[in-house]
Order: sequence, then C-alpha cells, then structure tokens
Amino acid sequence: MQLAGLPVSERQLAENIISISASTDVTILEMMKPVVDELIEIKRIGIDAFDAYNKEVVTVTSDLGLCVCYYNMLAEASNHKGANTNKFCPRCHAEKASGDFRKGLDRTPAESSRILQRLSVNDRKDVRQQYGLKPYQNCLLDVMNSHSDIPVGLLHWMFLGLGKHLLKACIHDLSEDQQQKLQVLLESMDQSLSQSNYHQISLSI
Ligand SMILES: [Zn+2]
Repeated sequence: MQLAGLPVSERQLAENIISISASTDVTILEMMKPVVDELIEIKRIGIDAFDAYNKEVVTVTSDLGLCVCYYNMLAEASNHKGANTNKFCPRCHAEKASGDFRKGLDRTPAESSRILQRLSVNDRKDVRQQYGLKPYQNCLLDVMNSHSDIPVGLLHWMFLGLGKHLLKACIHDLSEDQQQKLQVLLESMDQSLSQSNYHQISLSI
C-alpha cells in the first residue's frame, strides 16, 4: 500500500511502501476486505489530526485511489470471467462474437453490482456469458471502480489473454498477401515455442 500524491522520486522508496499481506492461498479480495472495512470506517468517523502547515485541527478521511494488478488478478478483482470469455474485456463491453474489437461502452460499478446481484439470486450461465461476470462477494466495488481503477503492466496485459485478441484484430485488416507473409514470418521464428500456438494464430486469421 502506498500513499497517493507522492513525487515520483519518493514513490519507490521502501519507507513509502507498506506491506500489508501476501499469500499464495488467500485471494486478493479476502486480503483486501479488512483494509476496505477500515477505509469505510475512517470515512464514516474521520480521524482528528493536526495540520502543522495551517496550524489547525483537521479531520482526516481516506480513499482507495487505485490498485495495481496483473491481468488475471484484475479479472478477479472486478468479478470478470477472464480473457477467454465472449465479453473478454474487464473494462468495457467489447465482445468477441461480433468480430468487432473496438472499445465498447465502459463497464460501471453500479451496472456490475446490479448484474452480480441478479446472478447471486439466480446464477444463470447465459447471463454470466452475456456480461462476462461471475458472482462472488467483492469488497472493492464499494470503494472504487474496479473496472477502470486497476492499471495493469503492459507485459502482463499482452501475454495473459488480450494479446490474442489484439493480434486477431490486426490480422483481420491485412490483405491475403500480407497474411501469407506474416504466416511465413511466424513459421520462420524460434521453433522452440509450442507449435499449437502457431496453429492457433493461423486458425484465427
Ligand atoms: Zn475494453
């Protein structure tokens, strides 16, 4: 956990990064729950403190600014089903089936909460598919927009699913001649990579 608003030079200093918990077994949402509960409580009651600059007593409250994750964790933190679903984007309503990979309408916490509420009453597979969401308790929905406020590192983003869709969208715009050249180029690449990856790419064209 890190305070927001720190200058870049201060941001990565050990004393400015507070480790709260780490686990390979407990989920991110379980670990965040006590933190979120405390943030909500602080917001409700406020904490009296002294502002030395203005020399006055102030009431401090706190918000969660953003949460940095890798792609799979972003999906988990926003109740998203992951990149292998028709609604493959945890941020918007872009969908695979339409073949149109342009950005869709933004997802919002209010809309997701409504759909998740519906799923928690009647967990229908078609509704899960329609929205790309799966129901479970998510404390983050109460304190942040988990669809837009979870940045992902570029490398993680590219390699854990969405890279496939990006490639597909780009390949779609190539002429037949360019597609063949690309296929030759891919086949001439390092063969130590799994052959099935190449097959997937050629089948997607
Ligand atoms: Zn999107």
